Parts: sequence; structure tokens; C-alpha cells
Amino acid sequence: MFNEYQLVYLKNRVASIPLPLSAKGTILLVHPTNPLAYEVEFVGEFGKSEGTYTVQENDLAEYKEPCCVGLQNLIDNVGQRGISIITRKTCDGTKFSLQSRGVKFGDESKMQPPSVDVMLNLSCSIGIRFCPFCGEELQKVVKRTPKYFEILAEFHEKFNDVHL
Ligand SMILES: [Zn+2]
Repeated sequence: MFNEYQLVYLKNRVASIPLPLSAKGTILLVHPTNPLAYEVEFVGEFGKSEGTYTVQENDLAEYKEPCCVGLQNLIDNVGQRGISIITRKTCDGTKFSLQSRGVKFGDESKMQPPSVDVMLNLSCSIGIRFCPFCGEELQKVVKRTPKYFEILAEFHEKFNDVHL
């Protein structure tokens, strides 16, 4: 059971909700139905509202904030132009990379090939083990909510393979 104002994330794909797995939100209202359902406002990049949806209890899990807001912001920035932090699933658990992206994900196809002989990185990534802001060991952050990071890594998969 979740309470009003509790932070949650989407742990299952729900046909009526056009948001990725791992989308975060706040419980606005508890519907006293059986089974319980919740009115959840989801937020995306820069805390922007992505809409309010009715979600069944078993499609939600409790979201725990990571070590600091700096890490949170970079994770939320995934796929955008600039710097972000992406996660990936490995046989050793969830790992993190710092990613620089010259072009927003999805905009690569709009790029014209450069007419001169210039090498260009659309995106490049480097593995990190510690939070670049507060120094927390990232495996400790994962251990607090391992299931969330597993789901997040699934969502991040498409951002991991863009090397042109
Ligand atoms: Zn941190």
C-alpha cells in the first residue's frame, strides 16, 4: 500500500500509459478500490509533469532518491544533448556510464554527413564507479533499490548503442 505524496515508479508496461518503464511519479490520491489503485502524477526531465494516470498497485514500486540531486538530474537527462548518466545491465549487475551526446537521441537520422573529412562523436560514454557530484559509490546506490536500476537499465538500452 502506498500513501499520498509517496514517490513511486512504473515497474510494468501499462498499455494506457505512454511512459517508459522506470518513469517516476508522486501519488496524488489513493482510490479505495479492491485491488487498490492510485492517481499518480509522473514527472520527466526538469521535473516537468508527464501527465496524471490511474495506476494499479501491482504496476508500481516505491522509488527511493539516489545519493544526490546531481546524479538524479544527469540520469533524468538521458537521451538529451549534453552530459548524462546511463545505466546498463551486465552479468555483474547494473553499471553506470557518463555519456556525452552531441545530438539529442532520435535526431541522429536528421544529421547530414559532413562534407569535409572530419571525425565527429555523436555520443561517447565512459564507465564510472562513483557519483561525480557527491562521491558515493554507485553500487551502494544500486543496492538501495536494485529492481529500479534493473528496469532503468532496460529503458536505457537504446541509448547505449549509438556510436556512428
Ligand atoms: Zn551523488
